[in-house]
Amino acid sequence: MSTHELNFLKVKIEELKEAGVYRELPINYGPCDNVINLNGKQVINLSSNNYLGLSNHPRVKQAAIDAVNKYGAGAGAVRTIVGNQDVIGRLEDILAQFKHEEAVMCFQSGLNCNIGTIQAITAKGDLIISDELNHASIIDGVRLSKADRAVFKHSNMDALEKILKERRKDYNQVLIITDGVFSMDGDLAKLPKIVELAEKYDALTYVDDAHGSGVLGESGRGTVDHFNLHGRVDFIIGTLSKAIGVVGGYVASKQVTKTWLHHRARPLLFSTALPPAATAAAIESVKMLMESTEFTDKLWDNADYFKKGLGKLGFDTGNSETPITPVMIGEEAKTMEFSKALLDAGVYVSGIVFPTVGLGKGRLRCMLSASHTKEDLDIAIKTFEKVGKDLGII
Ligand SMILES: *Cc1c(COP(=O)(O)O)cnc(C)c1O
Repeated sequence: MSTHELNFLKVKIEELKEAGVYRELPINYGPCDNVINLNGKQVINLSSNNYLGLSNHPRVKQAAIDAVNKYGAGAGAVRTIVGNQDVIGRLEDILAQFKHEEAVMCFQSGLNCNIGTIQAITAKGDLIISDELNHASIIDGVRLSKADRAVFKHSNMDALEKILKERRKDYNQVLIITDGVFSMDGDLAKLPKIVELAEKYDALTYVDDAHGSGVLGESGRGTVDHFNLHGRVDFIIGTLSKAIGVVGGYVASKQVTKTWLHHRARPLLFSTALPPAATAAAIESVKMLMESTEFTDKLWDNADYFKKGLGKLGFDTGNSETPITPVMIGEEAKTMEFSKALLDAGVYVSGIVFPTVGLGKGRLRCMLSASHTKEDLDIAIKTFEKVGKDLGII
């Protein structure tokens, strides 16, 4: 009998299969676009975060190619050891300009940014107050911090104020953390109220705008811009992996934040910088957003059209205020069955189930993009209608 069979994992995988949530990842044989070649079949893609269709845009791709020619394939080492390639500095400067903030620090991903930043800006004697539906990378970042923590019910401002009122006096700094856009439901944080409470109780604010950047506000400047709260949110996190169409994450804040992170953010100290191709591609995407609202306008137009179409059919699309369009199904196995039937019919929407969302809150999360044509959306809506009727959902 071998002890190297890792039977404990086999048992767990069997449990996934019994619960109906086991899945094999499909393979995409080409770029991420409105229509993709999934497992050798052309399907309409409603599963990516490529909100603006920039991941396969000719200008963005050319910028990546030019950067490889000039700078090579890899950054070579961590930034604090080998120094910064100038292309990273240019990305940080253009992002600061785009976000109307003093300074930006880039990380290898949004996840790295949260993990590195939350830990670096908090200490023992501080309190972190976090919305219960915040993204997993925030939860991990909070776990790595030596500060105490408190969680408030999703977007419940009374619950947030209660914590501030009762506990503010016991701590040095208090940091309120929220997603700008909640990724599984597409609802917005109550940011004006959060900022008001933070100012009233002398707390700092930290908004993870991974799904808001490139989507909300003027030309996709984000949730803070949408609510006109410039200068009143202390740390604004964005990702370059979603609407920007490449990979990477960043925090927009004051210059002192950037300087401190250079010295204390562990993903910057212990992990190699973004590759030049990704950095240059992201610069090009941001430039395109600053040049025109064409991409964000098309995204919202598509999202409105699709939501209306599903709503007319009687689907429950939850509380979404953004292009994230969840179609609520409920039971886990049913959700996965719906997703599979859609894929068989040529529409790719991944089912989202526990533990990504709560038990019994399974949903099909449709992600709209500026790259979708009206024809794509009409086909997708028709397919939803057929599968929904077949499975007795509508
Ligand atoms: C996607 C996401 C991240 C992670 O971003 P990556 O760049 O993909 O690592 C972080 N926070 C939130 C709220 C997200 O939705």
